[in-house]
Amino acid sequence: MYKFHMPTKIIVGENCVKENESELILGGRALIVTGKTSGKRSGALDDVTKVLEKNKIPYHVYDKVENNPDIESMAEGGKFARECGCDFIIAVGGGSPMDGAKAISVYATNEPKDGSDFELYDIFKGEYKNKPLPMVAIPTTAGTGSEVTPYSILTLHKEKTKKSFTCVDCFFKTAFLDGRYTVNLPLQVARNTVVDAMCHLIEGYTNKKASPSSDYMALEGLRIIGRHLDKLKDGSFDTCSCTELLWASTLGGMVISQTGTTIVHSMGYQLTYFKDIPHGMANGYLLYEYLKRVDKKRMAQCIYALGLEGLGELKEYLEQILPREQDFAEDELIAWSEISIKARNVASCPYPVTKELEIEIYKNSLL
Ligand code: NAP
Ligand code: FE
Repeated sequence: MYKFHMPTKIIVGENCVKENESELILGGRALIVTGKTSGKRSGALDDVTKVLEKNKIPYHVYDKVENNPDIESMAEGGKFARECGCDFIIAVGGGSPMDGAKAISVYATNEPKDGSDFELYDIFKGEYKNKPLPMVAIPTTAGTGSEVTPYSILTLHKEKTKKSFTCVDCFFKTAFLDGRYTVNLPLQVARNTVVDAMCHLIEGYTNKKASPSSDYMALEGLRIIGRHLDKLKDGSFDTCSCTELLWASTLGGMVISQTGTTIVHSMGYQLTYFKDIPHGMANGYLLYEYLKRVDKKRMAQCIYALGLEGLGELKEYLEQILPREQDFAEDELIAWSEISIKARNVASCPYPVTKELEIEIYKNSLL
């Protein structure tokens, strides 16, 4: 038995925000949740505010979402939404603002208070009383697929890692995919984020929870990325290829909504938390060591969908586009494995995972 549930409407193409005004406006007062620069640099913030102003919808901008947002600052965002009286959210940015918006939408309608029946960390249990604010998403990176997942990944300082919460009420109502918003991404950000999408598709395809519906989307997403591997090397993108990559990333989101991720992600979180390595780059460092241990047939299907001849070619490619600038010590890898072995997605891995195996994967990937 398998299920497919993805309630987000997806609108794809140039100028899709301006041409679908009614899909963007879900209430009478908007909160735009974005990062410090992505909203402005992508041009998406300008398109959104023009539509809101034209329709006389008041709005407030919360542009304080940092990369890998932490839970405390998202509670601040929720307080800001409450104080401003916003009744819907427009998330504009990469995975950080989109994931941040999901947490803000819960905190906006459920004020966390110590000693009450909803405390700050209860968000990870998915236990809250009031429905989160409705939201739409406008991704400005082609990587996380957060626009179609029920997950929000937040930095959790008290556990020194990143942790996800799953909330079916946090699916965006609509996602707008427009390559104009990603075409000017700095090349290394474009590479890191596409590698994240590649990891979602591969981790989904090789996952214990893979199903015919997730398999179908995973291979199609990998084929699309495969057609753009050269562009990712030299940065020769145009709007059309960027819209295609956004679609591949959205397919990746739909895949992991069904399957979840694997140890590539949970081990990668430590690289981000302790070394500030961008999410996609962290996953890319670990992908080869993960993939060489999976079922040979499934692994080969991923490689061929990417248009490559063998796993070695993928390894070389990833080494070319993901630079290594940091050194790692054996002690820290051992300490990280203590954290990552506790992650939920260890159970979705297609082979048994022990702490010792994680140490071996870290060592082979990073030392
Ligand atoms: P990101 O952290 O959202 O953004 C990375 C950088 O790119 C930021 O400095 C951002 O600037 C900049 N940027 C974004 N769009 C831009 C644009 N169009 N032009 C110029 N600069 C731009 O990166 P991400 O890889 O998309 O998201 C990573 C986060 O998503 C992680 O926290 C990860 O754990 C999470 N994630 C979530 C899911 C899910 O299912 N929910 C899946 C995978 C990953 P500003 O910060 O200044 O705006
Ligand atoms: Fe990811």
